[in-house]
Amino acid sequence: MSTIDRALGRGLSGDGLSEDDALLLALAAGPALDDLCAAADELRRTLLGEQGTYVVNRNINFTNVCVMRCGFCAFSRTLKSDEGYYLPIAEVVRRAAQAQAFGATEVCIQAGLVPRGHGRVYAELVRAVKAECPDLHLHAFSPEEVRYAAKLSGRTVRDVLSELKDAGLGSLPGTSAEILDDELRSRLAPGRISVAQWTEVIREAHALGLPTTSTMMFGHIETPLHRVAHLLYLRRLQAETGGFTEFVPLGFVHQEAPMFHAEVGARPGATLDEQRGVHALARLVFGRSLPHIQVSWVKVGFEVAAELLRGGVDDVGGTLMNESISTTAGASHGQVATPARLRGLLRSVGRRPVERDTRYRTLRVFDGPFDGPFDGEGESMEPEARSPLDDLKNPDEVFGSYAELAADPAFRYRPEVGPDVGPEANAERARNVT
Ligand code: SF4
Repeated sequence: MSTIDRALGRGLSGDGLSEDDALLLALAAGPALDDLCAAADELRRTLLGEQGTYVVNRNINFTNVCVMRCGFCAFSRTLKSDEGYYLPIAEVVRRAAQAQAFGATEVCIQAGLVPRGHGRVYAELVRAVKAECPDLHLHAFSPEEVRYAAKLSGRTVRDVLSELKDAGLGSLPGTSAEILDDELRSRLAPGRISVAQWTEVIREAHALGLPTTSTMMFGHIETPLHRVAHLLYLRRLQAETGGFTEFVPLGFVHQEAPMFHAEVGARPGATLDEQRGVHALARLVFGRSLPHIQVSWVKVGFEVAAELLRGGVDDVGGTLMNESISTTAGASHGQVATPARLRGLLRSVGRRPVERDTRYRTLRVFDGPFDGPFDGEGESMEPEARSPLDDLKNPDEVFGSYAELAADPAFRYRPEVGPDVGPEANAERARNVT
């Protein structure tokens, strides 16, 4: 038996790979990569059976104006940009309520770090959305945003998170992780929160009972060693807190990313083999400690997503409704996926679709054998299961596209006015001015 076969055999136990085994498998290519993907598929089946999950959600990126200039980010705009927008709190609430009416159980709110912002805007947003939609799960604010809120308001990370939780926040995205290596981060995005700062937010969130996702951005300037170290770091955190709900590998979308054009040596995103290798390796590294490995359809498209579902992935993420961040970076896989499209994706690889909530609790099982039909775009045509979102002919007309939003004078960010930060914070700001 080869050393690779022995490492794969140990991975199949579900106890998680050792560092040596992970490093060995991170370099797998050719038939060894096929074997890695097959082992990841087998472990996925052992842990979760043949179910495949998705969530009905909407992204609301309430502003693209940002004080930072991360090298991989094509979404942010400067204070004076003609494309800078800022959604007033009432518009965020309207979008959340509309999403709920179309079946969403979650809204995901993330945004730029707005100049002249106010640390309390985040809690104001949560309060306003929960007042209108108490049953909607709010999955919001990256560790970078939480740190920014703490900095703006002179409070600790714990105080900010406690306020958000009291306001109704349900969980946080574990984004702004990229690769958890300070030297590499300083090249990717100077001024980005450090590994210690990212970890502080995650630890505090988990300690308060706020789960987070975990992510890794790859396919730029990192090496396989960085990837393995990142996975093992997340696994140690998971062993300590148990607060990660899933791991989401995020391939670098290079087309419009500033750093791809700035000669820092960034690669043009991950190859298909790298995508397969990272998703499969994650399955074996985490084992049963973190059983949900999610593919981002918006980053890779549906064809590659199907391939990755055959190599360790069990979850296809959300409907999104308004995807902006990957779209502005050059991804061309759409800004919305209907539930029927996600079920079709899962069924195309023999999975039983399950609609889940943010915490992976089952909401609806689409049982029984399925022998089609699919429409021309891969949607499951299941008359009894279809929702209003499935039947929208042109979702962009209802939810609005990113391009329309960035061009809409009604939402233009006006530096002389500053952001709408909600009644409480607006009043506090006025008191400080007078
Ligand atoms: S990644 Fe976030 S913090 Fe960085 S520039 Fe983009 S919006 Fe700003």
